[in-house]
Amino acid sequence: MATKEFKAESKRLLNLMINSIYTNKEIFLRELISNASDAIDKSYYRSLVDENVSFNKDDFYIRITADKEKRTLTINDTGIGMTKDELENNLGIIAKSGSFAFKNENEAKDGVDIIGQFGVGFYSAFMVSDLVTVKSRAVNSDEAYKWESKGVEGYSIEPCEKENTGTEIILKIKESTDDEKYDEFLDEYKIRSLIKKYSDFIKYPIKMLVKKSKLKEGSKDEYEDYFEDETLNSMVPIWRKNKNELKPEDYNQFYMDKHFGYEKPLKVIHSKVEGVVSYNTLLFIPAKAPYDFYTKEFQKGLELYSNGVLIMEKCADLLPDYFSFVQGLVDSADLSLNISRELLQHDRQLKFIAKKIKEKIKSELLLMLKNDRDKYIEFYKNFGRQLKYGVYSDFGSNKDVLQDLLMFYSSTEKKLVSLGEYVSRMKEDQKFIYYATGESIERIEKLPQTEVVKDKGFEILYFNDDVDEFAIKMLMKYNEKEFKSVSSKDLGFESDEKEDKKETEENKELFDFMKEALKGKVKEVRASKRLKNHPVCLANDGDLSIEMEKVLKMMPDNKDIKADKILEINTNHQMFGAIKKAFAEDKDKLKMFSNLLYNEALLIEGLPVDDPVQFANDVSCLIK
Ligand code: ADP
Ligand code: MG
Repeated sequence: MATKEFKAESKRLLNLMINSIYTNKEIFLRELISNASDAIDKSYYRSLVDENVSFNKDDFYIRITADKEKRTLTINDTGIGMTKDELENNLGIIAKSGSFAFKNENEAKDGVDIIGQFGVGFYSAFMVSDLVTVKSRAVNSDEAYKWESKGVEGYSIEPCEKENTGTEIILKIKESTDDEKYDEFLDEYKIRSLIKKYSDFIKYPIKMLVKKSKLKEGSKDEYEDYFEDETLNSMVPIWRKNKNELKPEDYNQFYMDKHFGYEKPLKVIHSKVEGVVSYNTLLFIPAKAPYDFYTKEFQKGLELYSNGVLIMEKCADLLPDYFSFVQGLVDSADLSLNISRELLQHDRQLKFIAKKIKEKIKSELLLMLKNDRDKYIEFYKNFGRQLKYGVYSDFGSNKDVLQDLLMFYSSTEKKLVSLGEYVSRMKEDQKFIYYATGESIERIEKLPQTEVVKDKGFEILYFNDDVDEFAIKMLMKYNEKEFKSVSSKDLGFESDEKEDKKETEENKELFDFMKEALKGKVKEVRASKRLKNHPVCLANDGDLSIEMEKVLKMMPDNKDIKADKILEINTNHQMFGAIKKAFAEDKDKLKMFSNLLYNEALLIEGLPVDDPVQFANDVSCLIK
């Protein structure tokens, strides 16, 4: 029988397992049992869509057998089984789901400490065994195959006999050493306690033939041994238990077992709802975004159970997109077991549950913001973008749900604040909620446009995320207060505006000349009181802001998009004297000055200068 090689990355992971000095080797059993349980789930799931597969609840179980003499521990399941190809693909290559993601994420780190943080999968078997044999027969197939491996050298696959559908994994347990007592994995008591510890919530019975003793018939003091099948797990799923029976560790363990995430969740929401529709939910807010969260591959959704039995692995309809980061499950006895995916979408009960879940997540997040701000900020740093996208998408139809959950960096508080907090602090003469946009907090902080607003003592929200301004434009108002960009044409300061008008009027010819010199680039040139120390800036007229122009330009077909720009001049700045002089004496020079000032303003906005070579030459010209 030819031996095949493992794929390179599998080899590496295997090596890690075999040579692991990891003390928690016992988790291999949890991994294999969870795979067995998944396989039974799949069988059940298949029976819903395939007439040829039947699901009789009593036929589904996991069996553990320990043989001390042969030093074998066998894990048998009656699940979906694997074909020859599947044996090859699923066991010869690291599975995509858990293990592979882990490897990608943690390449740089030392393997040892990460093993314990999440499910490591099938290969963990090699931590305790020197030979692993997998016999499997796939559902609806009459062929069975045997996969066998001693570790890194490779594996072999050949046909074998197997009576029932399902998978049998036989571990040849390593000999004990001075440091490691592998023997204990063959010990009934140990196996029992491992199952209680890790696999108690597995919903299929985990059976083992256990040795018992009873009084011999007809005797009063003589005992005899006999064997009896016992189910070692309590099978009550965690979400059906009472909250007060459960410890945070229980939830965390469940979360990891389910591969919902690699580190413990930020927040657990466990609730039982009774009413028109009754259901249990167990929801988790992850501490970090999953590695594929911002890719197309990411699928949102909750597991959906009908009375404890899985009917859908990722029910997308249960979660709005803006809460797509939530993991977990819903279990309702009011849902029909045999409901098809198509029907499910229109199911009234399901819609009702989805609505309630949405409200629940929102209220839990608001509570977190109120009572545990640091935690909320941690959450917001990971998923705030998602909420902002939520405000923006669907034509703003979700803004009411989301607006209280938004946070932005504040110029006065120097930290993230909510819109509610901003509004509660607004000055009596303040009409708008002011914001400034830019690439980073540091850059926004220096924007000339912020000066006058800060001078008035008004707080400014800093928008440094692409989506921020789009979201706010969709929101339009918060608590009756309109949002106003510090770069917008009018800031709502009446006395300043009057003066600007007056000065612009006084220098009309000069500004008209500059506008002509910048034809097609700016809509207007004018005097501005918004500038204190800086000579120039760009202001914005109309709905499309300069920041939005930047974002939109990065998308295909938007190359020509343009915000209406106004070049604002600080007439109190000393450079204005030179401008006036050039206007009187040297118009060509003023043309050059106009271009220079415009380019300066572009640079401040984080936009590229129009013609870098010309710009450089003009600047050099001045150094004379
Ligand atoms: P994961 O469970 O995260 O997918 P594993 O390494 O634990 O990764 O398992 C790899 C794959 O092998 C599984 O995804 C599954 O397809 C297959 N597999 C493992 N054990 C069984 C089993 N008992 N029955 C059927 N398929 C199994
Ligand atoms: Mg697994």
